[in-house]
Amino acid sequence: MNEPAVEAAGLSKVYGSGDARVVALDEVTVEFPRGQFTAIMGPSGSGKSTLMHCLAGLDRPTSGQVRLGGTELTGLADAKLTELRRDRAGFVFQAFNLLPTLTAWENIVLPLELAGRRPDQRFADAVIDGIGLRHRLGHRPSQLSGGQQQRVACARALITRPDVVFADEPTGALDSQSAADLLGFLRRSVDEFGQTVVMVTHEPTAAAYADRVLHFADGRIVEQVMA
Ligand code: ADP
Repeated sequence: MNEPAVEAAGLSKVYGSGDARVVALDEVTVEFPRGQFTAIMGPSGSGKSTLMHCLAGLDRPTSGQVRLGGTELTGLADAKLTELRRDRAGFVFQAFNLLPTLTAWENIVLPLELAGRRPDQRFADAVIDGIGLRHRLGHRPSQLSGGQQQRVACARALITRPDVVFADEPTGALDSQSAADLLGFLRRSVDEFGQTVVMVTHEPTAAAYADRVLHFADGRIVEQVMA
């Protein structure tokens, strides 16, 4: 399949009107090829999160198109969009967002359960070994370090083999060693499982793990750097 994992064409997002009008995205056209790790960098307020939210179907653009896993998002009803997001996208946020009453393993397989799917045991094993937490699978999030919790969140994002894993400042709350572990795992998910990853980050050391860095300013991509 040569079709990009996700792509945007002429994507704009405008908030407010009159004096309060803000153009958060200004006709952005971009493709994210399958099996590639892209980092999105740029000053605060430049539109990075808005782009990611529109690509992931979490937010609707003012104009332009998004195709996620080959499906056009524009015009989809909310219920369809929710279903598509569940099946095609994985998310990692700065705050780990694990469910406190579930064990690490239960958190990881929750997206499969919600979708009525069974874990592919071999893939699940590879993911568990990848995050290095086999011995902690029965623990609750409160019994894990921040770095371990974020690796569980990454495993949860990967377990459905989504078209794209969207990571929004995933290392923002981690110390440098935990951040390196997490980024190494995301990198291996691309190299070993062919996962597509799109990551917003402020940190050049994090962006260095990517194949490509898109630099944003004023709602536009102003530079693209290949690793
Ligand atoms: P970044 O992720 O690069 O920090 P954002 O995508 O969050 O940037 O924001 C881009 C611009 O859109 C900013 O000027 C921000 O203030 C504005 N913006 C974002 N969300 C909203 C909103 N819900 N209402 C009004 N303006 C918003």
